[in-house]
Amino acid sequence: MCNIQFPHFGASYPDAACIDGYLWDLDSYENGFLTIGGDVPCPFCNTEEWLECVLENEEFDSREDALSWVEKMRLKFDSERKEGAK
Ligand SMILES: [Zn+2]
Repeated sequence: MCNIQFPHFGASYPDAACIDGYLWDLDSYENGFLTIGGDVPCPFCNTEEWLECVLENEEFDSREDALSWVEKMRLKFDSERKEGAK
């Protein structure tokens, strides 16, 4: 579980949040609940499961490509980690 929010569901702003290791669409907020999501593993804290998923869907050419994307997104969107590193 992590507090990262990043672009995932087709938006250019961070529209995905991780809840218990799975991603939810922040734009699907309705009556106090997120209604879309829960089936995509979080790349940051559920990395192994996410890797299996994206490699199966051929979203990345290789495990290395996928992991370097994760690192890039982590640096860009994980503000808590940035603050912690100061
Ligand atoms: Zn997570």
